[in-house]
Amino acid sequence: MRIGELTRDAVLQALAECDRLGTDDFLASYGFKPARKYVLVHEGKDYDSKAVAGVAHRYCQGRALRADEFSGGRAAAAGWLRRLGFEVRTRESGPAWVWDELVLACALPAGDGWADIDPGDERVVELSRLLQKLPFHPEATRGAGFRDPEAVAGKIRDLRTRRARGIGNPTRGRSGRADVEVLHAFLAAPSTMAEAARRIGSGLRSGELLRLPETPLEELEEYSAPEGRLLARRHLYRERDHGLRERKIAEVLRERGHLGCTVCDFDFEAKYGAHGAGYIECHHVVPLHVAGEGQTRLADLVLVCANCHRMVHRGEPWLTIDQLRASLAK
Ligand SMILES: [Zn+2]
Ligand SMILES: [Zn+2]
Repeated sequence: MRIGELTRDAVLQALAECDRLGTDDFLASYGFKPARKYVLVHEGKDYDSKAVAGVAHRYCQGRALRADEFSGGRAAAAGWLRRLGFEVRTRESGPAWVWDELVLACALPAGDGWADIDPGDERVVELSRLLQKLPFHPEATRGAGFRDPEAVAGKIRDLRTRRARGIGNPTRGRSGRADVEVLHAFLAAPSTMAEAARRIGSGLRSGELLRLPETPLEELEEYSAPEGRLLARRHLYRERDHGLRERKIAEVLRERGHLGCTVCDFDFEAKYGAHGAGYIECHHVVPLHVAGEGQTRLADLVLVCANCHRMVHRGEPWLTIDQLRASLAK
């Protein structure tokens, strides 16, 4: 027997039947197991999207569909229902999305006029692969379907919906607010964020970002940047590289004869005597979304005192050396 088109009216009749029977009896009488990954939301209530689509088929085509008749994967029923104008949400299982994941997920619709996107789209499949490479969620916490194309398309859909409804004010640290904060970052600086997503992507594909040593989380809190934790971690790693720092210090000593902060001129030796001799910090000046892979050049580093370095990294986005110098002059 053929599978026919659903109508909106038939879906409404199926929803009414589910209300009448109660969800458990509704599922049982049509042979559906509760599979609650996709929920249809109607007038404030949640419904099992697959069972609703199956039963709606009865109201417009004469017989209900069995669970095993849905071809095209678990998202097929959700797709039908959405096309009829119903709201279908992905129920999140697994770990919450972290900043870098959201940067990658936002970049896709942001670069495509915020158009809807299908789980079968090859860009979604590629993004799913990248997300599964990210180091933030240990294997044991991932669960089935972790960041698979359906979950990724679901997250993108959530982000689109939030954006379309007008996003609220970002508040750091509140659960579920990361989506809003990343959206804000994309609206405030679309090209910077798109570029950051590209850098994260290429660093993951080459493996470079995955080889970085762990940075303690509390430290990353202090160095948080809208471009994402992985790029911030690479920045810290580069400017703390001992060999590079030594070479930079030697170069500046050769050229200037003393080590002073590029911003405020503070000189550790002048202030602390022999104890401070040779001490200064390095800051990597190439913006996170521009800094690529490969060797750091000495020209990418400037010497700054510990205070100025802190001030550069305080708040988002990070200040440039010129901006900090300007604020000092006032
Ligand atoms: Zn300074
Ligand atoms: Zn720095």
